[in-house]
This record gives sequence, structure tokens and C-alpha cells, in this order.
Amino acid sequence: MKPKTRLIHGGIFGDEATGAVSTPIYQVSTYKQEAVGKFKGYEYSRTGNPTRHALEELIADVEHGHAGFAFGSGMAAITSVMMMFSAGDHIIMTDDVYGGSYRVVNKVLNRFGLEFTLVDTGNLDEVKAAVKDNTKAIFIETPTNPLLKVTDIEAVSAFAKTKDLLTIVDNTFMTPYLQNPIPLGADIVLHSATKYIGGHSDVVAGLVVVNSAELAEELHFIQNSVGAILGPQDSWLLMRGLKTLGIRMEETMANAQQIAEFLDAHDAVGTVIYPGLPAHAGHDLMSKQARGFGGMISFDVGSKDKAGELLAKLKYFTLAESLGAVESLISVPAQMTHASIPVERRGELGIVEGLVRISVGIEDVEDLIEDLENALK
Ligand SMILES: *Cc1c(COP(=O)(O)O)cnc(C)c1O
Repeated sequence: MKPKTRLIHGGIFGDEATGAVSTPIYQVSTYKQEAVGKFKGYEYSRTGNPTRHALEELIADVEHGHAGFAFGSGMAAITSVMMMFSAGDHIIMTDDVYGGSYRVVNKVLNRFGLEFTLVDTGNLDEVKAAVKDNTKAIFIETPTNPLLKVTDIEAVSAFAKTKDLLTIVDNTFMTPYLQNPIPLGADIVLHSATKYIGGHSDVVAGLVVVNSAELAEELHFIQNSVGAILGPQDSWLLMRGLKTLGIRMEETMANAQQIAEFLDAHDAVGTVIYPGLPAHAGHDLMSKQARGFGGMISFDVGSKDKAGELLAKLKYFTLAESLGAVESLISVPAQMTHASIPVERRGELGIVEGLVRISVGIEDVEDLIEDLENALK
């Protein structure tokens, strides 16, 4: 099955009980038992719900994994995965990881005795040097946000296996349509489904796929114990989103490539970061490990004030946090998504004040380029 077909025909197709082509929204908390402990697979919706289950089967299928899990947000998904570890365990993490991931490991999970070391996971030597006796996993985000640095998933996973470490990949930016970490050797893949998978700026959700029965059992235990589950209505919205993910990503990428080339040639724009530009450091690696370069572009307009002027003039790029929707969005990472990262740390990473990030939508590219052209004048 090819990727677009799998998004539509993967998992459980429709509803067996009624023939409904769309999985119904089972808005239910509990299920009638024939006798004590005798039920049709569902007993209580924190433990399992048919709509959520259909979504979980679909995401497991499209990520080529063993089992899927749906959570109330991307952060609930990441936190639940981290709860598979124990006090005293050490995890290596990509340094310019999503701001919320940085916050949860440094301000919340550290209180429970989990240790983290942040390194440039794009440099395998740095990853190797960070391994300690208590290291249990390597958590990578590729490409990163907003600098779009790329990590070699296959190389990191192969190294992790030699040390008995789990490889966990935050695949939000690439989506399961463009990149599948599990066939490349990863053990756990996760998504903020709030972004491209939902795709319409109308749902907050997280998804995780694991590659083995053991990890599935452990994560289900955590999901059911902690209770960070996704409700049936939102599960249904994500299935709806997944069906059009393929065509949305194709349009997004075609637009992004043209916009990146336009910005790259523009005098008022400094560095343009887009992996689809051949000059991008991760271009070759991404050509190998993904089916495309995604829809995120970062570029430097020189200062906080210039960024402010640009934002004020744009018509079609909505100023908002988040990304991955049908409408184009724009943000200033230093003041928005990455404000929770200390200023010195932002400086070290290269998240400068004039850095602007756009999430390219599926509007007509001529309108988007004209909008940018006018605003950059
Ligand atoms: C948004 C995002 C998250 C967090 O997801 P939420 O759904 O907002 O909780 C995690 N990782 C990446 C890369 C993200 O973009």
C-alpha cells in the first residue's frame, strides 16, 4: 500500500457493526458487561474507547509500528513516554528541542529524578560522548524547531541499539506521510497531532507509536494509569485529518519550496532556513530519510523591530503559535514558542530576535508570495 492509500485504508476501515464508512464517535464512558468481567473488549473509556482505538490502529499502521496511543496533547504524549522511565534514568535529547519539551524535562520531570543531557544529535560523536551508565534513551526531534537542524535517524538508532538504548523520535514536523522513523530503526515515534495531523487549527492532541508488544504493554499501562487520553470527538477529528494528510502535505511542500526560493533571492532577507534548499546542511540527509522537506521555513529579517513591521503588514500569514494547518501561520520564536527558553540558551542555539518562522499553508502560492513581497518592501 502506498502512503496516501494507507492514510485512508489503513487501520480499521469504517464501522463493522453498522457498515458506516466513517468510524462513529462513541461518546461513552462505560460499557455493559454480560457478567462480571465478561465484556466485548471495552470496559471503561480511560482504558479503551472504540473511536480512540480506531485512531490508534490507523496511526500505528501509517507509522509502520506495532501499536498506537492517543493522548490529550503532544505534551501529554511526551510526558507519558517519559513516565516509562524511572528515577535515576538518564535520557539524551536534541538541544534545540520544542520549547514545551525543554520545559517539561527541565522543570517538571527533573523533580522526579529523571536526568537529561541536551546535545546536538545531528553530531553522532556528541551523542556517543553523552552516554552514561544510567542512560536509557535518546530522544530526537528532526528537523528541529525553528532552526530545522536534521538528525540521522538511522545512524542514531543503530548506535542506540549497540548500547541497549531506546530511540524516541518527535516526528511532528515531518508527519507520518513524509517520514517514518520506525522502519529506520527507532523504537518510539510521537507527534503533536495538533499540527499537521489535525491540520485545521481545531484540535489539541498527541499520538505515540511503539515498535514492540513489550513497549505497547508498558505504554498502555502508563496511559491507563495516568489518564492522559484523547476524547472520542477529538479522536474522530484526527482520523478525518489523516485522510487528507497526503494531499495537504503535497500542496504545503510545493508552496514552501517556492516561498523559500523567493525569500532566498530577496535582498531584505538574511539567512533562509529550509531543508528543501540545496544549501541547507541537512538537505542530503533529509532527501534520504524523508519523502519531502515539509512546510516550515525560518528566515532572519535582522531585528525584532523589522520582524514586528513584517507581521503588521502581512494579510494571509496569521500571527499565531502552532503550525501545520491549512492556513499559513507566522511567528517570532524568540518572543513566542521559545520564550520559555532562557535568553542565553537561545543565543547559543541561534534563535535570534529577528528570526521569523512561517508555517506554509495550502493557499495559492501566488497570493502568499505577493503578500510577502508587499510586506518586505
Ligand atoms: C507543538 C509541539 C509539541 C507539543 O504538542 P502540543 O500538542 O502543543 O502539546 C511537541 N513537539 C513539537 C515538535 C511541537 O511542534
